[in-house]
Amino acid sequence: MPESTEYDVIIAGAGPAGSTAGYILAGAGLRVLIIDKSTFPREKLCAGCITAKTVKLLQRVFGESAGDLRKENIIDFEARRYEIFYKDKLVTGRDTDLPFYFVKRYVYDDFLLKKARRAGAEMIGGDGVEYFDAGRNLIRTSGGRTFTARFIIGADGINSVMRRFFPENRVNRKHWQENLATGLEIFIERSALKREINHPVLCFDYVSYGYSWLFPNSDKLIAGTGGLNVKNRRQLLYAFRKFLSALDIGEVRPYRVKGHPFPYGNFLREPAYGNILLAGDAAGFADPLLGEGIFYAQRSAELASTAILHTMKKGTKAEDAAGETAGEYIRLLQRHLYTEFVYARKTRDFIFNYFNKFNCLALKMLMTVLGSRPVETIHGMRSYRWMQKQEPEEPY
Ligand SMILES: Cc1cc2nc3c(=O)[nH]c(=O)nc-3n(C[C@H](O)[C@H](O)[C@H](O)COP(=O)(O)OP(=O)(O)OC[C@H]3O[C@@H](n4cnc5c(N)ncnc54)[C@H](O)[C@@H]3O)c2cc1C
Repeated sequence: MPESTEYDVIIAGAGPAGSTAGYILAGAGLRVLIIDKSTFPREKLCAGCITAKTVKLLQRVFGESAGDLRKENIIDFEARRYEIFYKDKLVTGRDTDLPFYFVKRYVYDDFLLKKARRAGAEMIGGDGVEYFDAGRNLIRTSGGRTFTARFIIGADGINSVMRRFFPENRVNRKHWQENLATGLEIFIERSALKREINHPVLCFDYVSYGYSWLFPNSDKLIAGTGGLNVKNRRQLLYAFRKFLSALDIGEVRPYRVKGHPFPYGNFLREPAYGNILLAGDAAGFADPLLGEGIFYAQRSAELASTAILHTMKKGTKAEDAAGETAGEYIRLLQRHLYTEFVYARKTRDFIFNYFNKFNCLALKMLMTVLGSRPVETIHGMRSYRWMQKQEPEEPY
């Protein structure tokens, strides 16, 4: 049970974004309350792939190395190879020094939340944020409880309630919808496939502006298809079925297929309003080419926390604190994330426009010319901006 009704920071949502912010802010001595509508541990539809840049963040922020995470069974599987197909034709299959890691979200999110709670964050589970009164900085939950805070972090996912309190000039709803995607997934028994899969496989051309995937876990495989809603209309399930039949796994009953929206280029330029800062999916922060969102959820939460700590340390007057924190958060996002989002979206548009016309051979040639650069970009060693080498991420 929460010990108070007044906090320095209230965080809506205990996914990777919310728990990362909770861990940093409570660890810095702030009074933090995390509110999540689900009771943890909880499932989240996701393929669970994390890249080297995420593992670096986990080391830097939480002091957990890849070795620790493997020992604690937080990392469930690791792969040092990947394959890309165009329909059923192999475009490239490469070994890589930089591993792809796979986590189960049920385990990963609970692990991060426990870290935040151990750092001192209080938590309410099973009761969502429903209403926000900007005049009084007051949050009301569906269960009727009320709390106030100096700052609110909206980390409540793609269907964010906190985002609804933003005006149109901060959230362009048309642009948001045009760059919103949906992912469909099922788990497959490893024995259902003739071929053994121990690495990620990406397949293009089943959907427009999106792709299909087959990712390994220690016990199962995850098959999925995701793409921009406006480009696929009602075709996504049909495309997913075509992908599954190419895998030759037999009949899949419709109820086993689960779907969830994800950001795919609809990142907000000003994810701050009053004393609310949005982080993660709530702000549209996922890679606009691949849909990778866990890293961007955690990194944006780190930057939002940094902005809050900056204002608190300076002792800014209460009436100026919200504006100053918002400005600092946007400045940090511009410095650390927006270049990647902008160039990844340009790459997305280039690839999906171009390959609709020139298909497999062109993709093969491009991947040969680029060599290991695409995979280094995904892992954060290169920028999406012309695939230039990047300096390792600074904390802020
Ligand atoms: C099919 C699919 C596959 C994906 N695969 C990958 C992948 O392999 N790798 C990757 O990096 N990303 C992947 N993503 C994206 C990734 O899942 C998200 O980007 C990531 O979960 C975002 O984290 P978050 O903390 O912002 O939000 P979430 O993880 O969605 O957490 C939000 C939390 O807020 C809570 N909440 C919601 N409403 C309220 C409310 N009103 N009040 C309080 N709490 C609330 C929810 O219960 C939830 O716990 C995938 C997405 C989909 C749909």
